[in-house]
Amino acid sequence: MLQSALPFDEPGTANPEPGTLNPEPGTLNPVPGTLNPIFVRHPRARRYVIRVADDGTVRVTVPRWGSTREAQAFAEQQRAWIEKQRRRAEQDRLEPRPAPLAPDVERAFRARASRELPARLLELAAQHGLTVSRVSVRNQRWRWGSCSPNGHICVNWRLVTMPEWVRDYVLIHELMHLKRLDHSPKFWKLVAQACPAFQDARRYLRSHGSNTLVVS
Ligand SMILES: [Zn+2]
Repeated sequence: MLQSALPFDEPGTANPEPGTLNPEPGTLNPVPGTLNPIFVRHPRARRYVIRVADDGTVRVTVPRWGSTREAQAFAEQQRAWIEKQRRRAEQDRLEPRPAPLAPDVERAFRARASRELPARLLELAAQHGLTVSRVSVRNQRWRWGSCSPNGHICVNWRLVTMPEWVRDYVLIHELMHLKRLDHSPKFWKLVAQACPAFQDARRYLRSHGSNTLVVS
């Protein structure tokens, strides 16, 4: 995911355009064009955020104060980054990676992930007074976890193969996105407060995890 920098993150500089977007979160509003992004307005978003899905779909989260025009301009400005993500997605679809685990071992891990990861996520959420709207355990190819603007957290089943303190870092990272959807210094401060060993965990993921997986 990519977030807007100045001037796009200056609240109050853009005039909202009532009527051009449905204000309900999760409402799709495709606009013609080569990037063909989908704009999703969300009141909790603090910036424009671009995500490229595995199928190449571009989604731009529009903050309450934002406009489709600015969102479109931001997407155009980030075209090179978007194209790179799309190429990566395409490559991923064309070249399936060899499974590192035997099928029965993977099945066992995935069953354990479904039992343990949502429970641990909700436990950590309760500790931090946060409410998760939905948890899914997924087989993501690029991500350890993700948090959508509507509070739906997805976690990669492979997290059960990681040490508990590393797994907890990823879960806390996603939980803190319920407070902030960006990766600003303020976001990292929240992570550091909730998970003091987060830097070690990030290093661990970089050195022990697949290099294609990121925490988004
Ligand atoms: Zn993140």
